[in-house]
Amino acid sequence: MGIEAALPVDGFLPTQLRHVMNWARRSSLWPMPFATACCGIELMATACSRFDLARFGAEVMRFSPRQADLLIVAGRIAVKMLPVLQRIYEQMPEPKWVISMGACASTGGVFDTYAVVQGCDQFIPVDVYVPGCPPRPEQLIEGIMAIQRHIDQEGLPPPGGKRAPLGLVIQPTHAVRPQPVGLTMGS
Ligand code: SF4
Repeated sequence: MGIEAALPVDGFLPTQLRHVMNWARRSSLWPMPFATACCGIELMATACSRFDLARFGAEVMRFSPRQADLLIVAGRIAVKMLPVLQRIYEQMPEPKWVISMGACASTGGVFDTYAVVQGCDQFIPVDVYVPGCPPRPEQLIEGIMAIQRHIDQEGLPPPGGKRAPLGLVIQPTHAVRPQPVGLTMGS
């Protein structure tokens, strides 16, 4: 017994193409995991049998950005890795969505240092923030469901067109200086 059992067999289903497209998109999200630290372990657990992300149609992790439409940033982002993250985001086809998972991805977490990006949303657009250190898999699933609700309402094409990242160029926050003490080898 399927959905056809609830529909009139000789009738037709009036709807809008936009709603069908949104329904298809929300039901088959293909995530691109950008997992750099401990939050990545929770991300992996979300796809395992206990939490079974397949129930939400989002279990097909893609490791090519050209095949993904949901970027999940999980873990702290080092300044050196930021250009890689931006490149991956730019290579994903439109429409695309971004989840910032965990305190480190959203704010830098406890790593208030010059080497860690203090929030990936300064450099790529973020649609949903999942709080926690680390967030549990249930929280990530709630974040994915929030993306699904967002897709339901957004329509095709997204209002406002392509979103622009807030900043694409980072400025160094420190100056490289020589070692204060000369290094001597031997006696
Ligand atoms: S938010 Fe916590 S669990 Fe996640 S990467 Fe940072 S330190 Fe690790």
